[in-house]
Amino acid sequence: MKRRQFTKNVGLCAAALGMGRASALASAGKQSEVAVTLDDFVLFDTPALSAAARNRAILDALDGHKLKAAMFVAGKNVDNEKNLPLVRLWDERGHMIANHTYSHKFYHNADFQEYAQDILRNEALLKQFSHFRKFLRFPFLKEGKTAEQRDRMRAFMREHGYRNGHVTIDASDWYVDQRLRERLKTSPQADLAPYRDYYLDHIWERATFYDDLARKVLGRGVKHTLLLHHNVLNGLFLGDLLRMFKRKGWKLVDAEKAYTDPLFNSAPQIVPAGESLIWALAKEAGKYEKVLRYPGEDSEFEKARMDALGL
Ligand SMILES: [Zn+2]
Repeated sequence: MKRRQFTKNVGLCAAALGMGRASALASAGKQSEVAVTLDDFVLFDTPALSAAARNRAILDALDGHKLKAAMFVAGKNVDNEKNLPLVRLWDERGHMIANHTYSHKFYHNADFQEYAQDILRNEALLKQFSHFRKFLRFPFLKEGKTAEQRDRMRAFMREHGYRNGHVTIDASDWYVDQRLRERLKTSPQADLAPYRDYYLDHIWERATFYDDLARKVLGRGVKHTLLLHHNVLNGLFLGDLLRMFKRKGWKLVDAEKAYTDPLFNSAPQIVPAGESLIWALAKEAGKYEKVLRYPGEDSEFEKARMDALGL
């Protein structure tokens, strides 16, 4: 009853403000919302799209929807005169720049002090950008093998003003990208449409999985942060992906706005810590074991299907 009344009030309020139906649904938490976040900023050249060309293509796809993404940069990929200007283009277009550590190491096997220094080394490189924000995304979404390792890093982050740049929708675009590049190596003229179709289906499947799970665990819709990578696949198909979300009725939101969702203040007390934040909250709740696999996403869940499709 309470819930019905709330929805009704939001409806009235939205009508009074002259908001469209889509905005009204979004305010009520019924319309699904998603922000784009990209990791790594890997800039090797490929036959399909040079590093600069795919950087431009990804930026243009976002501009096409007036959408601001979050770019989680691993410093080692861009720390030279040739590549740093490509990051600057993101800053100039108003996208959030954030920390993905300098060396992109696996925290679970790392020495704490070295890892902490690696985060600060990356910050020293990225703080020249006006849209740099203190959000840290753990490489491989691995936030600590033990409670001690997890909590020590959480304390370090608090001390340095960092928030966790959580992902809510985890996925394996990086693996589809890897397969696509392998194909291009052997057949430069290959038809890439089947890779696009697989990619869109894969992201849609994972997005609906995490969205349904969020609604079960939290009882509401959230502002999602989708994990993608700065890669050839997105240079080719990010525009198609954004159009797909809109066609399906989802609302695209800016990444910085998404991180204002109170969801992102949560710090699940699970070990190993990490994965999608929705995955972690579901794990912590302790009653969704049947739908939680570990890791949440990986190539092993896509390989057989891609093999069967000849991709
Ligand atoms: Zn990464």
